[in-house]
Amino acid sequence: MEPLTNRSVIKEIMERNGFTFSKALGQNFIVNPSVCPRIAEQGGASPERGVIEIGAGVGVLTAELARRAKKVVCIEIDSRLLPILDETLAEFDNIKIINEDVLKVNLPQLIQQEFSGMEVVVCANLPYYITSPILMALLEQRLPIRSITVMVQKEAAQRICAKPGSRQAGAITAAVHYYSTPQMLFPVSRGSFLPAPDVDSAVIRLDVNQKPPVEVRDEKLFFTVVRGAFGQRRKTILNTLSSALAMEKEKVRELLEKAGVRENARAEELTLEDFAALANCLWDFREQR
Ligand code: SAM
Repeated sequence: MEPLTNRSVIKEIMERNGFTFSKALGQNFIVNPSVCPRIAEQGGASPERGVIEIGAGVGVLTAELARRAKKVVCIEIDSRLLPILDETLAEFDNIKIINEDVLKVNLPQLIQQEFSGMEVVVCANLPYYITSPILMALLEQRLPIRSITVMVQKEAAQRICAKPGSRQAGAITAAVHYYSTPQMLFPVSRGSFLPAPDVDSAVIRLDVNQKPPVEVRDEKLFFTVVRGAFGQRRKTILNTLSSALAMEKEKVRELLEKAGVRENARAEELTLEDFAALANCLWDFREQR
């Protein structure tokens, strides 16, 4: 098979199969030959391991994963790519393609059925329009996976890997740091894709935590507080929480004092420990009622 990072090879396969890129599905395929081997290596694809990939495209990353891992299961929503993948991945017998929306797949069941006895990692060049829902779905379900190595838009990578309590932090920062330890791996320029997107990208790896770094009594409440706090990130925590939790300001003031958080702090200044203290104090408040 000719290299799948060769633009004229991709164009020829596409033309022959009557395939055109779907912008709505985030279809920007990698044509920089150094990127996929690095994602596969740094994502931990190895002979004993299983890999879940999200979004195969023409199979350029899928092939690099299959070369290194025991088995690759790839979830691809676009059925027009199936005949193309049959052709481009014909040399491999350790790849299974599932034609589904990743957000609708029963992932715990998939892992149990497909990867018995294997350690599992996730590697993908994500469709950017659903970066956060995919990451949250992978993390919140507490799947038995070691790590998630993904290419995302550069700004999303910076936000995800930011230190909680720093200016770049957002709700996703707190959520990701609760479930995993994220790190920036390497930048990827827009020219590395066909077609070239309007943004630059970066590859990040989230090493899944065995145990969250903070103790919270009620995770749902913890995430309600985080999302509420970042809902209006320019306002003070006193005002945002009062409207997000539908609580009188006096009560929120009491809550903040008990949790040791300044009432005029902004959400981005709060650490994971602050959010946990707030959620736990709120839980106590509600229990006492
Ligand atoms: N892995 C290929 C590469 O790196 O060249 C393609 C990456 S492209 C950025 C994203 C891929 O995700 C596309 O093939 C697209 O069809 C697929 N995709 C988009 N939304 C999806 C969804 N909800 N579930 C599964 N796959 C999806």
